[in-house]
Amino acid sequence: MTNEELWQAVLAQIQLNISQANFATWFRGTEISNIKEGTVFVSVPNSFSKEWMENKYNKPIFKTIHELNKEIKEIKYNVEKKLSPSQDIIAKAPSIAADADQMDFQEFKINKDTNLNPRYTFDSFVTGSFNELPHAAAIAVSKNPGSVYNPLFIYGGVGLGKTHLLQSIGNEVIKNFKKKTVRYVSSEKFTSEVVASIKNHEVEAFKEKYRKIDVLIIDDIQFLAGREKTQEEFFNIFNVLYENNKQIIISSDRPPKAINSLAERLRSRFEGGMIADISYPDFETRVAILKTKSQEKGVEFSDEIYQHIASVVQKNIRELEGALNKLIANQTLNNQKPDLETTKIIIKDLLSSPSRVMTPKKIIEAVAEFYDLKEKEILNVSRKKEIVHPRQIAMYLLREELKSSFPFIGRKFSGKDHTTAIHSYKKIVQELIKDKKLEEEIELIKERVLTI
Ligand code: ADP
Ligand code: MG
Repeated sequence: MTNEELWQAVLAQIQLNISQANFATWFRGTEISNIKEGTVFVSVPNSFSKEWMENKYNKPIFKTIHELNKEIKEIKYNVEKKLSPSQDIIAKAPSIAADADQMDFQEFKINKDTNLNPRYTFDSFVTGSFNELPHAAAIAVSKNPGSVYNPLFIYGGVGLGKTHLLQSIGNEVIKNFKKKTVRYVSSEKFTSEVVASIKNHEVEAFKEKYRKIDVLIIDDIQFLAGREKTQEEFFNIFNVLYENNKQIIISSDRPPKAINSLAERLRSRFEGGMIADISYPDFETRVAILKTKSQEKGVEFSDEIYQHIASVVQKNIRELEGALNKLIANQTLNNQKPDLETTKIIIKDLLSSPSRVMTPKKIIEAVAEFYDLKEKEILNVSRKKEIVHPRQIAMYLLREELKSSFPFIGRKFSGKDHTTAIHSYKKIVQELIKDKKLEEEIELIKERVLTI
């Protein structure tokens, strides 16, 4: 049994016994890095994960490993950073998607100059009537960046291929036009760059960097909503690039007109280009996607299995892939192909999978769980240090993710007034500028909220 298989076995076992949310939060990005003289070294992505593994999950992990290999006496957990928080494609991938994305990051390296992940290509992109138009536009743009469809604005729901399509354009351009500068950036990353450049008095250098770009790809632009300063910088960069016939490609989860508090001038700029939407793949296309992905991964399942998955998972291609990965893990573990019955059990939880939206309640629940506190403790007035920080994070998330008003947030927390909410929000924003660890912490909590 290879280290990887051994760890897959552990994960499969653990996954049966804990919630999806916990599994995604604590076990994503973990692997066995080495086994030496009876000690298994497990690498984990961050210190929170390490702490929880040691304190909460060590027993079941040890038990499973020991059953498979009696020589193992001990397990050690080491923090080994593989992903930078900026690679937030992964941050957008809650629960089952975790497995899918994890595989990607082991196999592919993100290009440091362009931020592109080479796994995303047109070759691996399945088309159907649901994405024909954006796909055709993307191909056209990749052949002639800056001259057709500018800006190209692609929108659609979560997990339907926006990032894949955007990055495919970038990868195609760097392949065909060696001299062109391409840069892929998420709106959140862009925002934090703007904030940092202002703070460090490097606004000019920041602008300069962006003005040199030939193809600028900005993912999930809806996150610029409400961030006036960032929008302003983006508008300036946009104009310079546009006037110089540089290509701009944008994605969003909704059309420009539905993005609240997006400056009118930005909106009309977007509407001046090509707007194309990705809808949902039909049943046949879902089956085709599963088959394509299987081929890529070097596995094959029966048609009835593909059809079952395709009938259950309807609105999210990332989840289709996640379901497939679950089957593969099961096959590795049992050394045989799952039959239809097993498949049904394995992906049963997808049927009841909750909607992936954030609500105030979910945020508070996730924050409480994350810090091992009771919801009551977070909501009540207490000045204990170990509670103040989580409470501030909860307030921050209510503001940041749900755009809740400060008076609303204040009331939610045992009738505190809005100045406390403002103070908490600002404090976290400030800390985020210099504290990378906090950024990770919040990413983990956000993922968690989405899996509740
Ligand atoms: P979004 O950005 O819209 O949330 P992604 O681009 O991250 O979605 O896609 C989610 C997952 O599904 C990725 O692993 C991606 O490779 C895969 N995927 C999405 N659309 C397609 C497609 N048309 N063909 C093949 N894989 C796809
Ligand atoms: Mg995306």
